[in-house]
Amino acid sequence: MIYQSTRDHRLAASSTRAVLDGIAPDGGLYMLDHMEALDFDWRSLLEKDTMSMSAEILSALLPEFADMSALVKSGYAGKFETDELTPTVSVGDRHVLELFRGPTSAFKDVALSLLPRLITAAKDVEGESGDTVILTATSGDTGKAALEGFHDVPGTKIIVFYPHGGVSPVQQAQMTTQVGDNVCVCAVRGNFDDAQTGVKNIFAACAGRDLDGARLSSANSINIGRLVPQIVYYFKAYADLVNAGRIKAGQPVHYVVPTGNFGDILAGYFAKLLGLPVGKLVCASNANNVLTDFIETGVYDKRRPFHKTTSPSMDILVSSNLERLLYLLCGCDNEYVADRMRELKEHGVYRVNETLLQKLRAEFACGCASDEDAADAIETVWREQGYLMDPHTAVAWCVSEQFMASRQDDAPVVVLSTASPYKFPAAVLSALGQEPDADEFAALDQLHALTGVPIPKNLAALREMPVRHTDVIDKEDMLSYVLRKVGEKQW
Ligand SMILES: *Cc1c(COP(=O)(O)O)cnc(C)c1O
Repeated sequence: MIYQSTRDHRLAASSTRAVLDGIAPDGGLYMLDHMEALDFDWRSLLEKDTMSMSAEILSALLPEFADMSALVKSGYAGKFETDELTPTVSVGDRHVLELFRGPTSAFKDVALSLLPRLITAAKDVEGESGDTVILTATSGDTGKAALEGFHDVPGTKIIVFYPHGGVSPVQQAQMTTQVGDNVCVCAVRGNFDDAQTGVKNIFAACAGRDLDGARLSSANSINIGRLVPQIVYYFKAYADLVNAGRIKAGQPVHYVVPTGNFGDILAGYFAKLLGLPVGKLVCASNANNVLTDFIETGVYDKRRPFHKTTSPSMDILVSSNLERLLYLLCGCDNEYVADRMRELKEHGVYRVNETLLQKLRAEFACGCASDEDAADAIETVWREQGYLMDPHTAVAWCVSEQFMASRQDDAPVVVLSTASPYKFPAAVLSALGQEPDADEFAALDQLHALTGVPIPKNLAALREMPVRHTDVIDKEDMLSYVLRKVGEKQW
């Protein structure tokens, strides 16, 4: 099976190559044409456990990997709170899909527990022996989840860039205390988009260049190896609803997804292409609502103020994975995609044609919520349902409310929950009407004393750990920083 760049069909790659390279040489993203034509028996998946579901979905989309079952088992074994990985719980008239029960309490653990295994296995298949250097830009959660996945994995090194002052203190402590001989964490003066653009530019600058025998790869969701493992929990939540007798197999389910880089929600669209009866995919944004406007009008316009919100992992104005959706919706016309991406780069804006807009609106709904709306939702759902949400999940909860008020059916609604409330204790405490302790670790205890909800072990342990990473650089210096690091033997 062949992956191709969204911008140029001649740039093709096997699934192992696509996972190793992360991004296509022209800056496009690797995609599979006609996923809906795969011979995939989605119904039989519903009876399987999460690990088996995962192995089957991964094998179907990444066929060059050998023994996916073993990779999946070793990737997840003992790392999550439950063997089902991502439980679904009922909260009032909705269902919450809890994706944060992994080693760093963020949904990115689902994919990043597996990606290092995929990269190591891909190197075997491709006969590559040099170091793989993982470059990652993070809005807060990817960085730690990637560090956790890659630290001390032989043959790999990882460099994480995060926006200086742009992540929560808990998120920052998670990253700056990371242990491992192959890890490097660096703050960039700028926002997430600056860090992400910087990483993309480094890939472009290093294409074809010898970096002391090392090769660059990405742990961001531009890497197809990040997206495919995320398809699994859409199936898992659906199977849970079938097994609970809430629906019969074949009936639709709506999913509301707190969205930033458009990776999570795109995995839901992949699930639909594989046959899963997904109703609407509802794209939930915070005040950075560039996607809400896009889905409503067909105009993607990033020329707007950047807002720092209480849901920082969604503070994004350039959603990389939207490029993959455009590619699928325009019938895999790579020139069309390349033109839109050029417009975005040169003018900061593009408009899609009417046909594409109609297809988009047939599959996706959207909405946005302010910090105040999200805080109200945290308070109300806690008071009425005894369920504690983090600010990202709360944004999705608000948008699910807007969606349910306007929809025409009564299909179940699943809200994806992407982080533990303990990753953002100050915002959650404020939402609950408390004055948060200025020390964020004291705030963890304060939230626990107030709610009785257990603190995830990995977060409770943080305060004892020494800070190991203190670098701060300008965004213009990211390339020279990487080149210098790659040249150093001892990290
Ligand atoms: C990354 C992240 C998101 C956004 O997911 P995308 O795949 O980037 O759209 C939402 N919530 C949390 C907590 C995240 O870490």
